[in-house]
Amino acid sequence: MVRATTLLPEVKPHYGDLTNYVGGAWRPPEATGWLEDTNPATGRAIARVPLSTKDEVDVAVQEALRAWDAWRETPPLDRARHFFTLRDLMERHFEDLSRVVVQDMGKTIDEARGEVRRAIENVEVAAGIPSLMMGYNLEDGAGAGIDEEVLYQPLGVFAGISPFNFPVMVQFWFWPYAVATGNCWITKPSEQDPIPMQLVMDLVRQAGFPPGVVNLVHGAKETVNAILDHPRIAGVSFVGSSEVAKLVYAKAAASGKRVQAGGGAKNVLVVMPDAKLDKVVSNVVSSCYGCAGERCLAGSVVVGVGEVHADLRRKFSNAAEALKVGYGLDETVQMGPVISDAHRERVVDFIGRGEKEGARVALDGRPIRVSGYDGYFVGPTILDDVRPDMRVAREEIFGPVASVVSVDAFDDAVDLINASPYGNAATIYTTNGKHARDFRYRVRAGNIGINVGVAAPMAYFPFGGMKDSFFGDLHPQSRDAVRFFTESKVVITRWV
Ligand code: NAD
Repeated sequence: MVRATTLLPEVKPHYGDLTNYVGGAWRPPEATGWLEDTNPATGRAIARVPLSTKDEVDVAVQEALRAWDAWRETPPLDRARHFFTLRDLMERHFEDLSRVVVQDMGKTIDEARGEVRRAIENVEVAAGIPSLMMGYNLEDGAGAGIDEEVLYQPLGVFAGISPFNFPVMVQFWFWPYAVATGNCWITKPSEQDPIPMQLVMDLVRQAGFPPGVVNLVHGAKETVNAILDHPRIAGVSFVGSSEVAKLVYAKAAASGKRVQAGGGAKNVLVVMPDAKLDKVVSNVVSSCYGCAGERCLAGSVVVGVGEVHADLRRKFSNAAEALKVGYGLDETVQMGPVISDAHRERVVDFIGRGEKEGARVALDGRPIRVSGYDGYFVGPTILDDVRPDMRVAREEIFGPVASVVSVDAFDDAVDLINASPYGNAATIYTTNGKHARDFRYRVRAGNIGINVGVAAPMAYFPFGGMKDSFFGDLHPQSRDAVRFFTESKVVITRWV
């Protein structure tokens, strides 16, 4: 496969040495180590990322604590006004932010615009904090003349650690709610694509958030450990792989923190024989290959139930093969590269492993070349005749590889999903209301799609996840986030 793209304008070819944003100022890093950040489409270096030390994390925490009293005493309506300003700034810089997401992460420009839009929507929802944060009360609730009420109060300093696949959006699942409720915040973006959040910090500064309220510290594992161990951080929001989510959950809890930790996924798309196949196929293709399969809600196993299988595998393969792969800044490109060379190797390895396990490579993305670009491309790949016990059907690949499985009946599909250690998302395509209802009722996954291939909750709903896909109880976004970032306090009052 050779797919060509034209050369495209980038916002900037190189972003130099990245710096931390702490206490309202850009701080020259004291990092002992640096990582090279590359553009996944070109393979070229576009920034150097400092690996911030424990001391640098501590300085950020001290600055955040210094800002906390005054921020907490700022009325919710005034706190909200900063978010209105930020929203306008993000709209003004919408296109540049989206283009930098493409340059650093590799997704297509339309996917990047979708991501930045989702981030803005979280700002819009958090700006409603005066209503969202209200408590409740009951006159005579504790007896005649004794009133009882609940208040929601911020806890102090929170930190957010995010994965590479949504370099802007995931941080916005957390921080607008943390800060709107009166906490201060430390962002630790993925070291693989941290440039977009660095640009966001400049907008945060322009939006007038007081120094120390929102901070950014670059780094990787050691920086995360310094956050998890810090005694003055009240809680941590994390999203990443299940392996790391589990570690983060345990380590943060061990030092007395609140934790919400999203993990990996292996999402199943079930196609029933009564589904409208022509409509379903394009939806399945965009679920499996959108963001090059690097979405935690991406379809990864496509299950054809009964007689639908033969038609489904043929139409799915034809549609996947037609996707245009290239540099995402080209508006006509439908799928970009994966994040890194190492990740490309891992995805290619999984395809080979599937073959060895007995799967048939019905569409092979391994030999792809994109003319003019030396990036980390893997074409859309389909492994057919996959059995549920194969590793490619059970383990997260996180690339443009779909495993196609055939089962006899609806119950087999539900059993296959529920046997997975993951529980992020699951979708059914059907025209039968009973099957749709049973699916919703029985399937153990936090985000359910009924004729929707990417069941991504809007900002005013919690982002779900069960089993190894989520550790904690209160989820990111919406009212869940408001509760996560606040402590409830009960006041009982008697005036005599
Ligand atoms: P990752 O787990 O490698 O990294 C996530 C974050 O953890 C990064 O900021 C990284 O610096 C840090 N980190 C990595 N290893 C660490 C360690 N040993 N100790 C402490 N910190 C560490 O994940 P990734 O590769 O960046 O992202 C892809 C993963 O994220 C996939 O598994 C995907 O399914 C998952 N994801 C889940 C959701 C969700 O909502 N559940 C959303 C997006 C992505």
